[in-house]
Amino acid sequence: TQQQDNSFFGQPAGLQTLFFTEMWERMSYYGMRALLVLFMTAAIQEGGLELTVAAATAIYGLYTGAVYFMGLPGGWIADRLIGGQRATWYGGIVIMCGHIVLAVPSDTTFFLGLILVVLGTGMLKPNISALVGQLYDEGDDRRDAGYTLYYMGINIGSLIGYAVTGYLMENVGWHWAFGAAAVGMFFGLVQYRMTLPKLRNVGADAPKPLSPRGQKISWTIIVLFLIALGGVFTAVATGAMTIDPVAIAQQVALAATIVFFVYYIGIFLFSKLTKNEAKRLGALFLVCIASICFWAGFEQAGSSLNLFARDLTDRMVGSFEIPTTWFQMLNSGFLIALSPFFAAMWVNLTKRMINPSYGFKSALGLIIMASGFIVMFLASQAAASGMKVSPNWLVAVYFLHTVGELCLSPVALSAVSKLAPRRMAGQMMGVFVLTYSIGSLLAGLIAGNLDPENTETMPDMYMQITLFGVGVGVVVFLLALKTRHWEKLAGQPDPEHV
Ligand code: GLN
Repeated sequence: TQQQDNSFFGQPAGLQTLFFTEMWERMSYYGMRALLVLFMTAAIQEGGLELTVAAATAIYGLYTGAVYFMGLPGGWIADRLIGGQRATWYGGIVIMCGHIVLAVPSDTTFFLGLILVVLGTGMLKPNISALVGQLYDEGDDRRDAGYTLYYMGINIGSLIGYAVTGYLMENVGWHWAFGAAAVGMFFGLVQYRMTLPKLRNVGADAPKPLSPRGQKISWTIIVLFLIALGGVFTAVATGAMTIDPVAIAQQVALAATIVFFVYYIGIFLFSKLTKNEAKRLGALFLVCIASICFWAGFEQAGSSLNLFARDLTDRMVGSFEIPTTWFQMLNSGFLIALSPFFAAMWVNLTKRMINPSYGFKSALGLIIMASGFIVMFLASQAAASGMKVSPNWLVAVYFLHTVGELCLSPVALSAVSKLAPRRMAGQMMGVFVLTYSIGSLLAGLIAGNLDPENTETMPDMYMQITLFGVGVGVVVFLLALKTRHWEKLAGQPDPEHV
């Protein structure tokens, strides 16, 4: 770490490549996701699919669950077959094709487009996040700040996505909005290609390639899987087979949870870990549990908090009515504004030899997020009187949720990259991305009990969420007192010994 490469805001040049690629990918992802339920429930003569709310939200849940579920095979493919660079590139191409297909108006293309985005994101998302960590040496203390910067790119992308697709949907048409997502991913691919040399050999090859025979078998399985998927898709599209999205959504959720635990335990049992590696992965497990609980609260942004904004918040400012969707942008906006402070804070704390552990930061993030629900407790009490409440409540909630997110989410990515052995960097990021999948599902289940029609039971529900979040946060904090010693084995400069 002598001759440090500081060329991108004090971070290695390769971060520029990954920052902008992920920014554009997230622009396309969130831009499209914001429209999804609206499009599916809109009437046919308005250009929508006219599905029921139950079917549309189930498909939405299935889609978001599947996107993050496929991160596990995506990470594995990078580790054992093609390396992170190629996985990111081909993943991006598949995503772009998905959005192009979505831009063609028809039911068949709609579902085919979603499947392509799922497959492509599974390849891209965990691997691009793992590549970020590989820009740093073991002892490089810029890692947390680097991930915070990268995370800011994610949110710049989502903000652009919401603004552009929201505008196009209102003023031009659904399919132009979907097309805009394709254009965003195209920009991402172009800039990735052009700035690829900055990554040097990071992720250029699979860190632990399979034997040629193993590779052949794996490719065969992948091709068979795609053929089977194509077969099921054709059967459903032609009406030869019917599926119930609600039932499948529940099964995928359960599968994600089981896969998460089984995979993690499997790694301990079968990966020939050294003692130190096992301890680091133990410390990481704690961060993953905190992450699941965190997203279970946070991801209500799109559901229960969104409904609170729509039905129980006084959105009139003079004669202008604030669109409900604008509240979703508060998170990205706060995140972009606060990121530089957090990045500077992590660097400063390290300089002063104060190095809060990953476990501690996750606990803090969880507790701050939960405290946002105290605000919801008060807001829903106010709403129970029958009067619509001030938008400031939700502004305060999103502020606290974003501060919690900054303590936990970028830090957890950093933890994965640091605590997982490099030969399984992609897979472990895939396992981590499963925590998004499980968290979002739990958020959906919780939100099902938070119907704006039932304002009387709402304050109690929000209080329970608060207590649960704070409770888990305290337990994580206590366990972190132990796991912080395991984290240090990862080669972190140890304050006591400098
Ligand atoms: N906003 C973050 C991202 O897109 C986290 C996603 C999530 O749902 N957990 O990377």
